[in-house]
Amino acid sequence: MIFELCESRGFDAASIAQRLSLVGLAEPGSQAQAEALQDLVIRPNVDAIANSLYDLIAATGEFSNFINAHSDAEKLKDTQRRYLLGLGVGFDTVRYFEERLRIGSVHQRIGVPQSLYQCSYQSLQYLLIQNIPQQLRSDSSAFEKMIQFILRIAALDMSLAVESYCAARTVALEKSLKNVRGESARLHHLAVTDWLTELHNHSFSRQFLAGALIQAKAERSPLCVIMADLDLFKSINDSYGHLVGDHVLRIAAARMTSAARDGDEIARYGGEEFLFILPNTEIKAAGDIAERVRLHIKNDAIQCGDEQIQVSLSLGVAETNDSDTVDTLIARADAALYEAKRAGRDCVRLEKRG
Ligand code: GH3
Ligand code: MG
Ligand code: MG
Repeated sequence: MIFELCESRGFDAASIAQRLSLVGLAEPGSQAQAEALQDLVIRPNVDAIANSLYDLIAATGEFSNFINAHSDAEKLKDTQRRYLLGLGVGFDTVRYFEERLRIGSVHQRIGVPQSLYQCSYQSLQYLLIQNIPQQLRSDSSAFEKMIQFILRIAALDMSLAVESYCAARTVALEKSLKNVRGESARLHHLAVTDWLTELHNHSFSRQFLAGALIQAKAERSPLCVIMADLDLFKSINDSYGHLVGDHVLRIAAARMTSAARDGDEIARYGGEEFLFILPNTEIKAAGDIAERVRLHIKNDAIQCGDEQIQVSLSLGVAETNDSDTVDTLIARADAALYEAKRAGRDCVRLEKRG
């Protein structure tokens, strides 16, 4: 038999003994009191106690709304009757602990408000004490012992139920937190990603470059950018249609990624324009990377259905200086790109440096 709640809450023989001792139920005589509670208080009056308990609980407005929405009166009374007939029976067993823990987790799952549910233990204590028979009342020591046992067994039941109620709520909160985190990661991904190529988008690349510029200045390290633009792309759209143009863009983007180094940032900066950000890179090395990207795009035609589409790329490279901003650095890479276009396309041009 697996007692899964006891297991998950870490209730083994030692911690059960510890909890019993905490509420005073490790004392000798507790078992006899448990039997007396059933024999003299609960069993002779179980229907009356269950009915009164129901009435007391139902008298609180919030709880009566809950009862009406979730359960009918007879079902609830029956549950309470069964609960009463089990109260204290085998209180030192794992099974008893498991059942009490289950009460808390079920209450959490069906949405019983914790405050109301805790208050009902107070009503339970009150009704049990009220139903102590005259034969015990007339013996003040026996009466006191019974009251003490009622308080202790109710404390045990409540401590277990509240414990698992809170644990179940924590699990539920963790689950919803996980969902929120997942959703926010999904939204973040959408916000920084270009839907067509899956590269980072324009706004992410500018933010990234702003950060990279600050870092390069702080570390006095070189930083280059490459602005790349597919050549005569409009004619590809005109000849093969926009969907084929999209496919070409996707393949070209993947080729750019595979030609770049790990740690290089590549973004789709505009329609058929791509921005590379190369930290810790001097202009000569950046020029070599640009050339490698160019060849990677040009060397193999892009297959689309039966068509073999030849594309080429022009690239302009610029290296940051001390006074650069995102805009001035990109403007110089753009100017170099313009030079590459003017030189006949399908080539790399480095910025002119004074
Ligand atoms: P150049 O060599 O001077 O850059 O010539 P070009 O034709 O590439 O440049 P132009 O600026 O005249 O045209 C760019 C074309 O890119 C026009 C536009 O329809 C196309 N384009 C931009 N974004 C997309 C896209 O998301 N999908 C497709 N299929 N085409 C796009
Ligand atoms: Mg173009
Ligand atoms: Mg363009």
